[in-house]
Amino acid sequence: MQTRRDSVSAGHDRWRGGCTIRWVERCRAEVPIDKAIKDNAIFCQSFHDGDLTAPPARHLMVITCMDARINVEAALGLKPGEAHILRNAGGSVTEDVLRSAIISTNLMGTTQIMVINHTRCGMMNSTDNELRRQFTKQYGKAVVAPNSFHTIDDLSLHAREQVAKLRDHPWIPEDTVIRGFTYDVQTGRLHEVKGG
Ligand SMILES: [Zn+2]
Repeated sequence: MQTRRDSVSAGHDRWRGGCTIRWVERCRAEVPIDKAIKDNAIFCQSFHDGDLTAPPARHLMVITCMDARINVEAALGLKPGEAHILRNAGGSVTEDVLRSAIISTNLMGTTQIMVINHTRCGMMNSTDNELRRQFTKQYGKAVVAPNSFHTIDDLSLHAREQVAKLRDHPWIPEDTVIRGFTYDVQTGRLHEVKGG
């Protein structure tokens, strides 16, 4: 079980530094997109997935964090067309993830859902209140702001809570298999979280 304190003490709170990193990234913003466009032209030359169907062939949905270290397809042996993969900061079951899960299970044939949270997650470095204060101080009040940043204190507990949100939703079929996991970014190994 990893807690926010473990993550911060492991030296992974660079994220908090915010401002400086943001300006550097803004200056470089065009370069990664230009490279992606060039890479897409190469990708098209050997593209053979045009006949895949929209419903996921493995009847699987994966909900996980946007963390760039996690190669979801490789880690789970998934190929294009096999799974719905939803990613956001923290791998949390937000209102929008629920929306997609309802569509996926009712209209797209999904019968199993994996929720995967991970060690050293950036969302363990701050609390909701800290983030709200930081952004308000930096930018002022926002007309449209997230209701919650879904920050994480206890990793295993968070995974169990995300599973429960899906299980408890009346519009997700009762026989949907929903299981929670943590993923170790240093070993690439999944650990199932029991008791969800
Ligand atoms: Zn994360």
